[in-house]
Amino acid sequence: MLGAGQLGRMLALAGIPLGYRFVFVDPTPNSPAAAVGEQVVCGYDDPRGHDALADCQVVTYEFESVPVEAAEALAARVPVFPPPFALRVAQDRLAEKNCFRSLGIGTAPFEAVGSLEDLTRAVANLGLPAVLKTRRLGYDGKGQFVLKRADDVAHAWAAVGQAESILEGFVRFQRELSLIAVRGRDGEVEFYPLVENHHQQGILRKTIAPAPELSVDLQFAAEAYATRILEHLEYVGVIAIELFQVGELLLVNEIAPRVHNSGHYSIEGSRTSQFENHLRAILGLPLGDTSALSPSCMLNLVGALPTREAVLAVPDAHLHLYGKSARPGRKVGHLTVRAKNEAELAARVAALQAIPGVSSGE
Ligand code: AMP
Repeated sequence: MLGAGQLGRMLALAGIPLGYRFVFVDPTPNSPAAAVGEQVVCGYDDPRGHDALADCQVVTYEFESVPVEAAEALAARVPVFPPPFALRVAQDRLAEKNCFRSLGIGTAPFEAVGSLEDLTRAVANLGLPAVLKTRRLGYDGKGQFVLKRADDVAHAWAAVGQAESILEGFVRFQRELSLIAVRGRDGEVEFYPLVENHHQQGILRKTIAPAPELSVDLQFAAEAYATRILEHLEYVGVIAIELFQVGELLLVNEIAPRVHNSGHYSIEGSRTSQFENHLRAILGLPLGDTSALSPSCMLNLVGALPTREAVLAVPDAHLHLYGKSARPGRKVGHLTVRAKNEAELAARVAALQAIPGVSSGE
């Protein structure tokens, strides 16, 4: 695997029972996945790492900013899934949005921005408020600036470091949703139910699964978008599609070509977790049932750790710590809680959110 963070750790924790062993390449020593496999400490394009991975049955990545060239070079030696082309599209917000547009998928209105003049023109065309996002290396709300007034233009352009960007019209969505889908090597596709996501400062804090008041039409609309994307990318593995719900309409915000934070609930909340299904897909195994076992909620632990005693005292709460030290804004773990129904779930979530070190997620 390229990358040895918490996603790699949870992938290995799903694959070890199936009898697999894992090798990770990551430049940061003692990464979270080092506890569950062998970590080769080197850069993503280091030949040492590539030699170790080329001996594996299949290579995947858990970190979407790996250089595409590294994934492509490996693909000449060993099967690499998801296909590096998916990585290429997902790494560039402009290529990504153009891909959605070409597939007839709804998005926020957007324009490419390469200069201050472009930005001024795009603001005139799209109106305000609008969101300026760098084309590359933006995640968790980084590399973004919300423009509210016409005289924000120069400030916004400086805030993104004058980097190639896109300007998006501001979407007044009812809520944010995501769809986790998985496609096997033989083209078989399964979808998890849509989930509802709550962010703070661009960082995911809370996922409710399945999304409350989920209509069949909304689920079908999301699956139809996902099918177009998966087929276009000849995708293999788990993909996450982040969506805005506007009335009964869905707009696609972005895709993540990997297991996703909004799918962590699936470890306890689904018949087959996103991690196991990603491995099944890339290894050419039959996919597992994606249906939910019960209503569940995932809370991210960001920048602080609650005590194990407090979390585990809440009925059907499950704790996942990633072996990282707490720093402001850093995801150090998550917890998932299940319940019989939405009312019981709300009460258990409130009990968890009252614990020091668990943020409110609102
Ligand atoms: P992103 O990095 O694209 O996932 O954006 C991070 C968060 O910013 C999203 O989860 C939304 O909450 C918000 N956001 C992004 N794009 C827009 C938009 N065009 N309109 C309104 N909010 C947005």
